[in-house]
Amino acid sequence: MAGSKHFNRLTPAEAERLAMLSEECGEVIQAVGKILRHGYESYHPADPSTTNRDLLAKELSDLVSVMQMMDGDFSIIDAKDHDAAIAKKLRYTHHQGGEA
Ligand SMILES: [Mg+2]
Repeated sequence: MAGSKHFNRLTPAEAERLAMLSEECGEVIQAVGKILRHGYESYHPADPSTTNRDLLAKELSDLVSVMQMMDGDFSIIDAKDHDAAIAKKLRYTHHQGGEA
């Protein structure tokens, strides 16, 4: 056999970090979906103390944490690139010019 490496050449640690990234991205998407359906201030009946806004903030925090763990896997763009990305996105938005 030509070796035991997986075809994607990921180490187990890299694969695990990608799985964590995928999981957190899914949780962010789920939280956004709940807000779009029920609003920021809505909450699950089993936990009235946690709003959908809180859930989104938590999931985004989880996502940033995993991104920090992946620092050696790829280079995360720096702040000036964020500014350029925002400027580009604003050219194609309809409601980001002033009101909340
Ligand atoms: Mg999470």
